[in-house]
Amino acid sequence: MTGPTIPLGSLTQREHRSEIQCQACGSTRVTRLSMNLTDGTPVEFTSCHRCEHRTWEHGGDALTVASVLDKARRV
Ligand SMILES: [Zn+2]
Repeated sequence: MTGPTIPLGSLTQREHRSEIQCQACGSTRVTRLSMNLTDGTPVEFTSCHRCEHRTWEHGGDALTVASVLDKARRV
């Protein structure tokens, strides 16, 4: 059983080297992406290069991985 792949859909990569911090370790070496989930929900995806912590946010609220996968599954 392989883990579900999160479809990236349309995304725009932006570089934020100073203002965005990893919520887990505080590193600013993060990648910030804006994307739409397959159900159309626009989210901000943040991936940390240091600890690999990943977060999804929608409207300022953090989404759990489970809820993101649930939305991605619902086509
Ligand atoms: Zn981190």
